Amino acid sequence: MSDAEEQTGPPITLVEPIDVSKLDSEFRKTIRSMPNGEELMACFACSTCTAACPIANQWDYKPHQLIRMILLGMRDDVLSSKEIWECLTCFQCQERCPQKVRVTDIFFDCKNLAAEEGMIPDNIIGLARELAEKGQLYVVTADWEREDLGLEPEVPGLSANGIREILKTTRTNKIVGGES
Ligand code: SF4
Ligand code: SF4
Repeated sequence: MSDAEEQTGPPITLVEPIDVSKLDSEFRKTIRSMPNGEELMACFACSTCTAACPIANQWDYKPHQLIRMILLGMRDDVLSSKEIWECLTCFQCQERCPQKVRVTDIFFDCKNLAAEEGMIPDNIIGLARELAEKGQLYVVTADWEREDLGLEPEVPGLSANGIREILKTTRTNKIVGGES
């Protein structure tokens, strides 16, 4: 193999053999029955979603492959994949799909299904915990910085209690170890 071939690596369509004994024929029906899944079956594997995706080149499974995996019934592989959680939710794929498959929203549905089965990456749980405790996902100014800058201890207008109350009505609270 030449150096150029080694650097290029395998084509993205070259994947591991599929273990048909693990396929779940109900999976695509589940996704299709969800509000975003109506056009799922219309996917004709054109890969436009993958071409539009700004992060696909970092993924083992590209967007069009994930959609194909859903259609094939590869439930465990999809729901345990890192890709559904790394999606930037930029909607580039969904905007460009010629078949109106709601790719981004389907990945949201996959995340919800994965969460219901407890398959949530630790960093996502950390973010949920931060939201429940601090009322925001990203701390713009750390506590010590606020003090140094003479700012109020709390960000004005930010109601962490309000957010906690809202979270109590969702299953997110259960995930972060609060009340169910
Ligand atoms: S762009 Fe749409 S039709 Fe093409 S592969 Fe992606 S989901 Fe399927
Ligand atoms: S929404 Fe997700 S899958 Fe779609 S283009 Fe953006 S990052 Fe890629």
